[in-house]
Amino acid sequence: MPAWLECDQCGHDHEIPDRSFESGVGTRCPECGGRSYTVRHEGLESHPDG
Ligand SMILES: [Zn+2]
Repeated sequence: MPAWLECDQCGHDHEIPDRSFESGVGTRCPECGGRSYTVRHEGLESHPDG
């Protein structure tokens, strides 16, 4: 399923890097370096249990 991350700080959206979503090694916004983000799925609202 297409999914991407939307930065909570600057709103920049970007694709989820390989495995970082599961491993939690620290996904960062490429624009501002923020580590707080919302996971977006195509056609769905944010769903933490996804
Ligand atoms: Zn950002």
